[in-house]
Amino acid sequence: MNTDPSVNGNRGLATRAVHTGQPRARPGAPVVAPIVRSSTFHWSGPGDGIDLLYSRYGNNPNQRSVAAKIAALEGTEDALALASGMAAISMTLLAATRTGDHIVASRHLYGATHALLAHELPRRGVTTTFVDPGDPAAWRAATTPATRVVLIELPTNPTLRVFDIGPARDAARAANAILAADMTFATPVNLRAAEHGVDAILHSATKYLGGHSDLIAGAVAGSAELIHGVTKMMKLYGGSIDPQAAWLLERGMRTLPARMERHNRTALALAQWFTGVEGVTQVIHPGLPSHPDHECATRMLDGYGGMLSIVLDGGGEAADAFCANLALAAAAPSLGGVETLVSQPRHTSHVDLSPAEREALGIPDGFVRISVGLEDLEDLKADFAQAVGAASGALVRG
Ligand SMILES: *Cc1c(COP(=O)(O)O)cnc(C)c1O
Repeated sequence: MNTDPSVNGNRGLATRAVHTGQPRARPGAPVVAPIVRSSTFHWSGPGDGIDLLYSRYGNNPNQRSVAAKIAALEGTEDALALASGMAAISMTLLAATRTGDHIVASRHLYGATHALLAHELPRRGVTTTFVDPGDPAAWRAATTPATRVVLIELPTNPTLRVFDIGPARDAARAANAILAADMTFATPVNLRAAEHGVDAILHSATKYLGGHSDLIAGAVAGSAELIHGVTKMMKLYGGSIDPQAAWLLERGMRTLPARMERHNRTALALAQWFTGVEGVTQVIHPGLPSHPDHECATRMLDGYGGMLSIVLDGGGEAADAFCANLALAAAAPSLGGVETLVSQPRHTSHVDLSPAEREALGIPDGFVRISVGLEDLEDLKADFAQAVGAASGALVRG
């Protein structure tokens, strides 16, 4: 496997994305690694001079090559691919905590992560204090001598907030805790979290890393020691990735830098275009000067990402009509694929909140989240323009 420093060391991100983890070039060798479906591998004992290979251990050739690619892109010592984003998050938190320990986490988290911290980990004696990530003093104030993990996510879903990592990192360091960050929306193309002091970089690889809406996977990147601990949990709880999914993920990651470049460009152009569309009262994208974190996002990120949100005049009814009238973009949850998807948080991630609670979070009815795909910009504009028109028409007709 191509993990040696001469391939990775000084080479750029796009080169690493293509080459790391691929078979060594030699006559007759496949250019693309095959899928190895075997669950087990010949091994007669330690005298064989290799580790025992077994696919639940995460050391099947496909699992290892995709892990090498993740580590190469994040710039970390090691990495691990798992069965889902939630497997990556839960195994990392289980590895880092024991009964009596404490976590400080951002209030702006993926729904299942929030549920894990608020309802599941307390059953194991691990408690969490949620803080407003926009208040730099809140992190330090929430830590206790028992704090083992500080957890952030950025950009956040669905309001795309981009908070400075500094205060969370400093609080983690002062508490002797690890800083964990769900970087699903940013990807290593837009932000190398390790350079900002993140110890455990988490991904739902289902989204941009895979990039084609055809697999469920997760990833964690960090030091060899951290990955050793997470691997131990994965072996016990059984959350390893299937070799087929690992191969698909590795295939998707080869084009990650190329895809992100286009996601970044098209989403920004669409955000700018939406600001002039009648019937759209608000456009939320970190690349717009109107976004509350525009300055911070510009400083920290290499690209603003492929996500954007709009608020339609006419509330939930208008948003329903907008989604129903799209011809090219599809209404579906999830994000990060080649195809443009739209979803309404009031029907999905924030369904359990009242309209007033959602409004307080910056998610009024009429809010539509858009995962901008790789289609032609002009085709997307045309589709969104006719859908906004149809939504306004539906309201007028009553
Ligand atoms: C989707 C998502 C997850 C969960 O990932 P799965 O692959 O569905 O388990 C976690 N965090 C964020 C930010 C996500 O978007």
